[in-house]
Amino acid sequence: MNDHEQIGRKIVSAMEEKNIIPYEKWLVSFSVFRGNNIKISLREFLAQGYYEAYDIVMTYAEKQNLDVRWFKEKRNCGSAFSNRDITKLESFCTYCNMKFNHADPIPCKHINCHSIFCSRQCLNYHVKLLHRSKT
Ligand SMILES: [Zn+2]
Ligand SMILES: [Zn+2]
Repeated sequence: MNDHEQIGRKIVSAMEEKNIIPYEKWLVSFSVFRGNNIKISLREFLAQGYYEAYDIVMTYAEKQNLDVRWFKEKRNCGSAFSNRDITKLESFCTYCNMKFNHADPIPCKHINCHSIFCSRQCLNYHVKLLHRSKT
């Protein structure tokens, strides 16, 4: 076995151990009552599997006081949604705890760390704080 194969095997077994599910785009529809009107909103977000999606949706709905109408993988939502530019669900930065939706969150690349950040700077602080021993 050459070096390349060995590295490949290590990556595969690490993925199996941690049971890594790929990120998928999800859509969620919220409703909120404003007087006599129902306001419906649609948001897009990234999640690794149903349980993480459920967690994100429920946490967000609770914080914002919204009702969840439905949520599902974007690719299962049909062509009406696939070409639409949908507002990203706000995320909370793991480091500074600020809410943001300006862009795709910056994920920590450290294996088995699911932190996301509002900026490179927050990512750098986080890496220094938690993953420094690695380097
Ligand atoms: Zn931040
Ligand atoms: Zn991390």
